[in-house]
Amino acid sequence: MMNATSIIKRNKLLSFVILVYISLLIVRPDIATTALGNSGYYFKEMIMVLPVIFLLTVVIEAWIPKEVIMKGIGKKSGFKGYLLTLALGSVSAGPIYAAFPIAKALLKKGASISNVVIILSAWAVVKVPMLANEVKFLGMEFMVTRWILTVLAIFVMAFVIGKFIKEGELSTDESKAFKIVSEACIGCHICVKAIPELFEMKGTKAVTIASDKLHSYHDRLLHVTEKCPSKAIVYEQ
Ligand code: SF4
Repeated sequence: MMNATSIIKRNKLLSFVILVYISLLIVRPDIATTALGNSGYYFKEMIMVLPVIFLLTVVIEAWIPKEVIMKGIGKKSGFKGYLLTLALGSVSAGPIYAAFPIAKALLKKGASISNVVIILSAWAVVKVPMLANEVKFLGMEFMVTRWILTVLAIFVMAFVIGKFIKEGELSTDESKAFKIVSEACIGCHICVKAIPELFEMKGTKAVTIASDKLHSYHDRLLHVTEKCPSKAIVYEQ
């Protein structure tokens, strides 16, 4: 059974937010009530949008072969990749935060950083439902001019970001938060016996076995991290 401290440790941000709400309710109940109303509104929105998004990420992760994504929107996809991701981002619907899990799934499957930047940017500022509203309120000429300039800016930004940020610098891989500090390991075998699916011995040192299902070992990992006598296991969420 997890105690309160480990629950708080696992959910630091949520615990902090709850603490802020409690403090506000005591000091300024009027602001707290408004804030709770706004949070409720966005929570309802998220509940409606996120199941679809998670379904989409599952489809990307499970059913679309990596080669297809690499060919279509990978590093070597060139300008065709730019156009394809512009189209994908433009036909999207829903708030921009819904795009991030999809962006992560695409990156893991071999999409280039530039193309992910285009999807996110198109999703945020030139998606079709937004353009339709723009025409209604500001006119066709305004919308077309803004669209052209915005798309040019998105392409330039995608190119520049793709030059400066490399895939390895992004923390999309859960296993980055899971490692053994080899120098600290004393080879006691505790971790290997506890979770053989994730640890094995290499000579006198334990090493980690890559897993894309790290979350399913979460509780056992927390336990073994505590048990490691030399605190050699690093596991961060
Ligand atoms: S429990 Fe810690 S010290 Fe023991 S083998 Fe595993 S990593 Fe090394």
